[in-house]
Amino acid sequence: MRIDVVTIFPDYLAPLELSLPGKARDKGLLDLAVHDLRRWTTDRHHTVDDTPYGGGAGMVMKPEPWGQALDEVAQGATIVFTTPSGEPFTQALAHELSGHEHLVFACGRYEGIDQRVIEHAATIGTVREISLGDYVLNGGEVAALAITEAVVRLLPGFMGNAESLVEESHADGLLEYPVYTKPASWQGRDVPDVLLSGDHARIARWRREQAARRTAERRPDLLPATGAIGGLADL
Ligand code: SAM
Repeated sequence: MRIDVVTIFPDYLAPLELSLPGKARDKGLLDLAVHDLRRWTTDRHHTVDDTPYGGGAGMVMKPEPWGQALDEVAQGATIVFTTPSGEPFTQALAHELSGHEHLVFACGRYEGIDQRVIEHAATIGTVREISLGDYVLNGGEVAALAITEAVVRLLPGFMGNAESLVEESHADGLLEYPVYTKPASWQGRDVPDVLLSGDHARIARWRREQAARRTAERRPDLLPATGAIGGLADL
């Protein structure tokens, strides 16, 4: 997979050198580049914003540098505009994006990017407008980081143990069950007996019940979407 990120704060993306995306690059699964949008400005001050037509507070990102940047790095790509008015980012969307060959993140700042840039992008690639959640960040960089991390860990060959992807939260529509490690007793708190039983069928049943219970308590909104929790009424 190839990922390009266009931003006015390239240093914000430094964590992509570390951790999981860094590992994916080392494994040859990911080719990643971060670009400073100001590279595509033509004036002395490297201006990327201007006042909004129609008035109002704040500034809007100018179309010219974005048009130039996307023409250069995003031909044929899936172009992700991070925006609070986009479709919510989910694990299902992370899976879908992990199957795309080339993602380009356009990180907005100020009041956002001139709408014509999004229309232009749709003529050179496939546009996705994606929100990290129902809140407003200062810029799209954190969203690009989060989406990249969620997508890259799903790339085939990335996880040493692919099983861990199958079991985790949201993989089957449920939140993950509680997890424990050694010691078996800590500060008077014991690991549930069933996990020490060695009975794999019982352990699997317990985990499934715990996942269903936790989902019902914390995220009941997830339940109608899954047919995966038969027996929840018995809990
Ligand atoms: N005026 C915009 C609005 O109300 O929709 C918010 C602009 S915000 C201050 C600046 C930039 O941060 C946005 O263009 C977007 O790229 C990014 N951003 C803010 N919140 C986001 C979110 N929840 N998800 C993804 N990107 C976000």
